[in-house]
Amino acid sequence: MKHFTHFADAVDDLAFVPTMGALHDGHLALVKEARKFSSHVGLSIYVNPTQFESKSDLEKYPRTLEKDLLLAEKAGSDFVWTPSVDEIYPEGMSNVTLIPAGSLGELYEGVSRHNHFSGVLTVIERLFRITNPRYALFGEKDFQQLFLIRKFAKTYFPNVSIIAGKTIRDERGLALSSRNSRLTEDELEIAYVLPEAQAAVKELTNLGEMRATLHHILHNRVGFTLDYVEIVDPETLLPIPTSSADFIGRVQVLLAGWVGSVRLIDNFAHEVKGQE
Ligand code: AMP
Repeated sequence: MKHFTHFADAVDDLAFVPTMGALHDGHLALVKEARKFSSHVGLSIYVNPTQFESKSDLEKYPRTLEKDLLLAEKAGSDFVWTPSVDEIYPEGMSNVTLIPAGSLGELYEGVSRHNHFSGVLTVIERLFRITNPRYALFGEKDFQQLFLIRKFAKTYFPNVSIIAGKTIRDERGLALSSRNSRLTEDELEIAYVLPEAQAAVKELTNLGEMRATLHHILHNRVGFTLDYVEIVDPETLLPIPTSSADFIGRVQVLLAGWVGSVRLIDNFAHEVKGQE
């Protein structure tokens, strides 16, 4: 496997996996999925400054390059590209014009992380422009991000197929995340409130009960600070109004909160069958 800091390996059928490193099985599953689409698979590791709201969050982001290279190679990546800030933002960080993410980028994650998705779209535009991929793979774990990238790519990179990878979880259902490595043992225990909330609504068939149960569990776990829990239409990303008591159909539950200083997000699909 090749490791390079400057991209010069253009191929016409690249299946590309952009990451911020601290690789885990969620990232590696995307690499393996990429292999189903192309004989050229590459992964980038770039901790993108424009998508971080706070400098301290950016600085605290885990960086484990040596281990990442071994894991990427084992998962079957042909290359790992670790660009410099200069390669991505040659105009200098203070001169970067962010790509607007629109009103959907201001919802959910966008409320506490203002401009986060503008930063994400800005780096994706640069990464795509440099690598010219045929396929790009993103995890469902970041549902809002996947939605916004799909929408963006459809307009600006119609030749890039966006492929979604399922959320990879640990044996107790917690979605793998590079940020999990910042949790102490006690904090990790608290983080399991996320899969517990999911399990608690599994058998529920109407929206009202789902909402009440999710709020009850997520508000009452000591050590967990809920940011939001929203039930949305996966096709539009818009919230399903509380007034739609007799709603029937597939929904996506989006949730986020803090355990200590670590921000965690999750989401899952659910079939609402209405009152029974
Ligand atoms: P990140 O390094 O956090 O920016 O993530 C890079 C890519 O891996 C994104 O497309 C994420 O959605 C995806 N990803 C992160 N965690 C998971 C997971 N647990 N399961 C599946 N995909 C994931």
